[in-house]
Amino acid sequence: MPHYKIAIIGAGPAGYFTAQALQNAQSDHLTFSIDMFERLPTMWGLVRSGVAPDHPKIKSVAKVFEKVASEPNFRLFGNVEVGRELDIEELCPRYDAVVMCTGLSIGKKLGIPGEDLPGSLSAAEFVPWYNGHPDYINVNVPLSGDTAVVIGAGNVAMDCARILGINPIELDATDTAEDALAALHQSMVRRVYIAGRRGPEHAAFTAPELRELPKLEHTNVVIDAPAVQAAHERALAAGQIEKHTAANLEAWRLIAEHPHGGHQRTMEFRFLSHPIEIKGDGKVEEVIFGINEIKGGKVIDTGETYSIKTNLVISAIGYQALPIQGISFRDGKVENDNGRVLGTNIYTVGWAKRGPSGVIGTNKSDASDVVKLLIEDLDPEPKNGGDITVVIPQSKTLIDQGRWSKINAAEIAAGELVGKPRVKEVDIAKLIALAE
Ligand code: NAP
Repeated sequence: MPHYKIAIIGAGPAGYFTAQALQNAQSDHLTFSIDMFERLPTMWGLVRSGVAPDHPKIKSVAKVFEKVASEPNFRLFGNVEVGRELDIEELCPRYDAVVMCTGLSIGKKLGIPGEDLPGSLSAAEFVPWYNGHPDYINVNVPLSGDTAVVIGAGNVAMDCARILGINPIELDATDTAEDALAALHQSMVRRVYIAGRRGPEHAAFTAPELRELPKLEHTNVVIDAPAVQAAHERALAAGQIEKHTAANLEAWRLIAEHPHGGHQRTMEFRFLSHPIEIKGDGKVEEVIFGINEIKGGKVIDTGETYSIKTNLVISAIGYQALPIQGISFRDGKVENDNGRVLGTNIYTVGWAKRGPSGVIGTNKSDASDVVKLLIEDLDPEPKNGGDITVVIPQSKTLIDQGRWSKINAAEIAAGELVGKPRVKEVDIAKLIALAE
């Protein structure tokens, strides 16, 4: 019975769902050994460092990941960076297939003047900051002003705006990074603008995220009722309204009609606003927006502008890949054909493959599609290329599944003492100490 060795790079949702798809594809005629490599000593990728801490239910998928990892054909090699400490060229000959599940970690740029001023951040920095990603704990998030601006009309922008706009007591019982939570408690931000360049009918937010807003206990949520009405009319005029748009328009109507609670904190949506410039003397002081209008279904710049005074701008307009030595990238993702990296035994799944779209669960079907192709491509004879452990740097403390379980258990135990799901350790050396 042929037995193939597969390497998965990246212990995020795409990685675990790929491992699960391989496990599910096993039969009396086909078996796999799965080695998963992860650069951090902590696992679960975006489930740990992306999903908003006030959305704990989404994180329960980690149970599925741990079940996958508990299977006898799974080995974990955490705290090893492929492309830097372990070359792709070392991996490929030792495995029948290598699957890149490395996600996208760089925020796309607005490309406007002032974008690099202190106080202008990408969601790709802000989100891992509040989620305790070791690489982002020192991000400087100025929270001393009363106004913050989030640019983008997708679910990441919504997460950023909620974290800034809710009362931090709502985060006390979550796994928000301790330092970030302390900073949010000191935050002076009381108004968060969320700016979309097209209309409410075009927003990439999903309806469940919008429907949550009127339920916020300490935050007024504002959208101009005539703007919602105009969006509805435009959507009707454009023809049949798609399901996603109809659900969003209904959610917008509920938000617009919801009586404001007179709270100190406000989240306000501004549509048809495209950022032109971020201004300031050595730091962010103001954002200038151009005002758009929609004519004949097209978004048109009216030439008019308005400005918002703020010292914090977060752009949440999409992600691209951090290049990895030995892998070819195109358009911000791994260059691939439906998940195959042509001419190699490399495959890719998740955001690294398809770009920054879809929810955590989207990676499950994506993984299963790519694993089908991978199986089709397998040589009749497995490679038998030798064990990887001989080329892993000896200087590293490898985080195997047993060690990761210790880190996980220690964080959960620390959380139990203070009524949280876990207290995240954010220092690499301390994480490794927890594992030993
Ligand atoms: P997204 O959904 O693609 O939204 C990106 C937003 O940025 C869009 O509104 C886009 O506007 C805007 N944008 C792009 N370039 C811009 C520019 N130059 N100036 C101004 N605005 C610009 O991306 P995302 O929010 O990063 O989310 C990525 C994926 O993760 C999505 O599939 C999302 O649903 C998912 N996610 C889900 C959850 C959840 O389920 N709770 C949470 C977070 C993320 P245009 O439409 O005009 O291009």
